[in-house]
Amino acid sequence: MDVSLVESLRERYPQVFGELTRAEAGNGWYSLLDRLGAELSSGPGPYSSIRLFKEKFGELRFGKVSVRPEHWQLLDRVTEQSRSVCEICGAKGAMQPRAVRVRCPGHAQVEHADGRVSSGGG
Ligand SMILES: [Zn+2]
Repeated sequence: MDVSLVESLRERYPQVFGELTRAEAGNGWYSLLDRLGAELSSGPGPYSSIRLFKEKFGELRFGKVSVRPEHWQLLDRVTEQSRSVCEICGAKGAMQPRAVRVRCPGHAQVEHADGRVSSGGG
């Protein structure tokens, strides 16, 4: 994920992503994380924090979390949603059967989500 997007998550949701140390996923999943940050930041504290997210087995997964019990379902839902969102562009995608990655038709041939996407895209 582009540094600018990671910084955006940190700045917008400091209680949730302020201590983020690893962000190993494609830009296409930014909107999922943005929505999650908003949900976890709403209401009174203590807030749930996430220090690691990454693509694993094609899904968006979380680690090093300090999460209120009622928030686990939100994280699980994001992981589930990531299975149908292209990791590169955020369009509707599908888990590719043999490659274990989520891609839209236009990005089906792109192997790695990181490092091959220019910043500033939608
Ligand atoms: Zn795509």
